[in-house]
Amino acid sequence: MTDTYTIINLSNLKHNVEALLAKYPEYKTHIGIVKGDAYGHGYEAINALYEGGIRYFAVSSVDEAEDFRRHNKSAKLLCLEPVAMDRIDDAAELNLTLAIPDLDYLEQLLKNPCKHAFSLHLQIDSGFNRLGFKDKQEVKKAADLIDASIHTLEGIYQHYATAGIFDPYYDAQTARFKELTSLLDLSRIPLVHLGSGIAMMAHPKDEIATATRMGLVMYGYNISPESYGGGIKNKLRAARDKHFQKKYHLSETIRDVEIDLKPAISMKTRIIQLKDVKAGEHIGYSAGFEAAEDIRIAVLPVGYNNGIGHNGSGRVVEIKGKLYPVVGAVGMNMMCVKVDKDVSYDDEVTLLGGRITLGMFSRFSGLGLAEVMLGVGKNNKRYYVQDQ
Ligand SMILES: *Cc1c(COP(=O)(O)O)cnc(C)c1O
Repeated sequence: MTDTYTIINLSNLKHNVEALLAKYPEYKTHIGIVKGDAYGHGYEAINALYEGGIRYFAVSSVDEAEDFRRHNKSAKLLCLEPVAMDRIDDAAELNLTLAIPDLDYLEQLLKNPCKHAFSLHLQIDSGFNRLGFKDKQEVKKAADLIDASIHTLEGIYQHYATAGIFDPYYDAQTARFKELTSLLDLSRIPLVHLGSGIAMMAHPKDEIATATRMGLVMYGYNISPESYGGGIKNKLRAARDKHFQKKYHLSETIRDVEIDLKPAISMKTRIIQLKDVKAGEHIGYSAGFEAAEDIRIAVLPVGYNNGIGHNGSGRVVEIKGKLYPVVGAVGMNMMCVKVDKDVSYDDEVTLLGGRITLGMFSRFSGLGLAEVMLGVGKNNKRYYVQDQ
């Protein structure tokens, strides 16, 4: 083993997919989002998702698709971002489904000499203002052009800009999607997918949706909004939200979804030096930490080069089930924690996993949840394990 490493538990990934598919059978197709090296878990992990039941995946680029296909040849694979025309032959070779963001792109594809018949998904821009069609006549024209071509219109989708928890923007996007697709017969298009994991967990399925896209949840983080809890403040919040919901006819929010999701990613390191620091001595860059009393510290071979951000204050690590605070700044390759006499050189140090949840790690580092997975997963050697 290297000093600092990431462990990916494949059994947990498979378990999460099984739990999600059992919980949300109202969607016919669950598209597994595996962009960003499968959120840092690596394309080595995709067959665990496949074994759990995912048959349709999505990546961001042809390069990612190539990595994906090294591990899985048969699953359907959508590329969420438009494939450059000089890579259409590669996309054909990889049997990619193409996303169509506008008419210009579609016209270029139809002119492309590549003779492969692609499955296509139209992207609708209902308010995100990133990729996608914003005009319903153009949507209709695109569908007609595809019908008259060798390609198949297999899907149509949008992406929500908000979680839709008491914000009218979410419902406005759903309504806008329906308006922009109103000249099509949606029942003819097999995959209509409106949103990602939060839309699936926090809202009932919309009547037109047949598929959903799952990212973060598959990797084991329950993103469903929590209920209000006790106390007068929460009661007031709940009343205010209810009033707001009625006033603006907002769609229902589902809270506290009960589902057993298990994070699959964890991170560990070892101790490279134990030393005593006297009261009044300083630790680390900028002499940023002053020992208030005589303390014992452990030096760890892990820093922001390992994708954990550079914030040390408030961060803890776990050693033999006990939490110890980081002292001083996080360097590129090293940081220090204040330990006690129970800690010895042979002890394994956990930075993520065990008592340290993704949510805690995210707060320590100031990184978002998916960012934590990417940072920890992509910047360390990954070891894959399976429950026996
Ligand atoms: C990344 C992405 C997702 C997955 O989102 P999660 O919040 O991780 O579930 C879904 N759809 C699109 C278009 C995406 O880019």
